[in-house]
Amino acid sequence: MASVDMQNIRKAFGPSVALEDFSIDIRSGELVCLLGPSGCGKTTALRILAGFERADSGDVSVDRKDITKVAVEKRNFSMVFQDYSLFPNMTARGNINFALKSRKVHAGERASIIDRMLAVTSLEDQADKFPHQMSGGQKQRVALARAIATSPRVLLLDEPLSALDAKVRESLREEIRRLQREIGVTTVFVTHDQHEALAIADRVGVMSNGRLEQIATPRELYETPVNSFVATFIGSINKVPAIGTSDGKWECWGSVLTGSRSSTPGESVVVGVRPEDIRVKREVNGPASLTDVSFLGPITRVSIRLDRGETVVVDLMSAECGDLRPEQAVRLSLRPEVHRVVVF
Ligand code: ATP
Repeated sequence: MASVDMQNIRKAFGPSVALEDFSIDIRSGELVCLLGPSGCGKTTALRILAGFERADSGDVSVDRKDITKVAVEKRNFSMVFQDYSLFPNMTARGNINFALKSRKVHAGERASIIDRMLAVTSLEDQADKFPHQMSGGQKQRVALARAIATSPRVLLLDEPLSALDAKVRESLREEIRRLQREIGVTTVFVTHDQHEALAIADRVGVMSNGRLEQIATPRELYETPVNSFVATFIGSINKVPAIGTSDGKWECWGSVLTGSRSSTPGESVVVGVRPEDIRVKREVNGPASLTDVSFLGPITRVSIRLDRGETVVVDLMSAECGDLRPEQAVRLSLRPEVHRVVVF
């Protein structure tokens, strides 16, 4: 187990700046997902951490020891790629053996490590198969077994599940999480899939344009995004009008809230509110009206037109929302638990 620290990393490819003042601090044994839209610099950050790429400036350290100039093979990191990168002419066993051999693990120890790796990844019956005889999920499990066999200090996963179909992806991500917890290896997992990141990470680092916008637990990211980019990137959010109060807060539908920035009195803005944080009360001549009601099982999703014409989407518990129909007039309020909002 090892802590990882990347500080003030800059990396440009010609005119294209992939990372700008990128800093991240990863605790020992943690699983951190780097999440962000295509081209935001996730893979570049991972490749610099692995040592495949050299930053233009900034430092990388592991357990507080500077490794910025340490060669890839001396870092004792393992990396798993989207395309598995297995040796096609070697069986599952052969692939794991090769990794152990190249890390100079003694021949006498290799067989028992391979058996243990095949067992923890449930690959015992695939041991003597070649990659072309295995499914995508099985190949990725071999890649994973090969990566952890050498007891790396840090495990790096670059979109490891993207080539797999939805069902395999979900079960393999649970398996990665279980394995990571079992062996306690510090892990950085790059993905552009927010559901994947929120489901498995201890903390998620949200990136945009080469910068780390926020790093936090999945719940903190969802409930207290630091800015409008994170708020819109994670989950759904409504843009709701709010007015500045005399004490720097924001008033929205009768609630007084702390914003991601302070207000000036009377200032008019829109703030972000999650669909499940809005309450809907039927009221004759109410200031808003229902335009659409969709029953989705436990949740009923309603669209509501506000008095100025904007639409908000609200998720209500089906068991509690009663009989709602389009054209009904309603009044909206915020759940009392909502205290803080992002100002757009
Ligand atoms: P994706 O999710 O699409 O893989 P990403 O977030 O991993 O994207 P990177 O691959 O790190 O993003 O790329 C960040 C930026 O750097 C992009 O604009 C990309 O075009 C550029 N870039 C990355 N590698 C190179 C390279 N070897 N040569 C030139 N430009 C590069």
